[in-house]
Amino acid sequence: MQFCVVGSGFFGATVARLLAEELDADVLVIDEREAVGGNSRSFFNTDTGIECHQYGSHIFHTSNSQVWEFVRRFTTLNDYRHRVFIRRGNAVFPMPINLATVNQFYGKALSPGEAKAFLAAEIARDAVSAPRNLEEKAISLVGRPLYEAFIKGYTQKQWGRPPCELPADIITRLPVRTTYHADYFNALWQGVPAEGYGALFANMLLHPRIEVLLHTRFETMRNSLPSDCYTVYTGMLDRLFDYRYGELGWRSLRFDWQTVPVQDYQGTSVMNYADTEIPFTRIHEFKHYNLERVEAFTSNKTVICREYPQAFSRGGEAYYPVNTAENMALHQKYLVAAAKLPRFFVGGRLGAYRYWDMDMAVAEAMRLFETDICAAVG
Ligand code: UDP
Repeated sequence: MQFCVVGSGFFGATVARLLAEELDADVLVIDEREAVGGNSRSFFNTDTGIECHQYGSHIFHTSNSQVWEFVRRFTTLNDYRHRVFIRRGNAVFPMPINLATVNQFYGKALSPGEAKAFLAAEIARDAVSAPRNLEEKAISLVGRPLYEAFIKGYTQKQWGRPPCELPADIITRLPVRTTYHADYFNALWQGVPAEGYGALFANMLLHPRIEVLLHTRFETMRNSLPSDCYTVYTGMLDRLFDYRYGELGWRSLRFDWQTVPVQDYQGTSVMNYADTEIPFTRIHEFKHYNLERVEAFTSNKTVICREYPQAFSRGGEAYYPVNTAENMALHQKYLVAAAKLPRFFVGGRLGAYRYWDMDMAVAEAMRLFETDICAAVG
């Protein structure tokens, strides 16, 4: 049995591994980029030895034990737990909003119970019963003052459109806490690969039945695949169909990299910037992900990168799907067209047009394998 897996991010690499291991299939993984790993890829900066996440900070986090065990077959993860701060004017607050954020913002010393009651009163001033968009949802979670301080401007910069034009569920990615618990994620397990993301992907794809072909576009080789070859496609569906129904909306990013001659630039891995006068949304400082790499951490150089959201245009890098109702309907049309292709499966963040974290990509790849693929091949 032969499979072509298009795309070598977490989704493609997971499917490829399962196909080779569990179905004994021959798997050709193709990727148009020069390296595997999709947007989870990293590189070691030669000047400083610091591992830098090429497409912005990537922290593996999950509460799915099956996913956690699967990934840990290919790497150990360090004990990094993600914490983020947000700068607004000349003040720095913990983000997502927790008890420290609330107390600092309002100049109070509320207990958890007092904070709950206080926020409920703030929320009651403005909230609507059935939030229809990100703005209404955010206000229903934290009230208007905290929304305007920490969410409105950041979201406008991030998405290039007002929060009232965005799906509500984007904001539910962030927890709101009335404790001092400051983790960015609620996930049980977190960490970054001890030997780097490159080693993790190399290990996932290291199997006698898996072959990897880089610099290869599906369009250029699909006609040369044997007729009984199955395809798992994790690229963009509008491109696959030559944009016949129109273009799907994406948000893109630009990264401005800098090596700075100081030991520590900002004291943490990610600093968000709420103010709209500042055009970037956040600064990543990668050495903070690997405190165990003492030499790189203590050296008098650090690598930072400023993240600038930007419009997406054809041929650019697609980072975030803009999951408005119109775009979801358009994506559905492409899914229907893809379902008519013989021996063809669609997945991955790009193909599924979903705002997935890495663990979701692994979980969805497992699901596709266990249900659709196993059913199709008997
Ligand atoms: N967000 C915000 N302020 C912040 C961080 C996030 O308003 O300081 C909002 C913003 O709309 C963003 C969403 O929360 O798109 C999800 O943020 P997350 O950090 O999960 O985005 P990612 O890391 O995937 O870019």
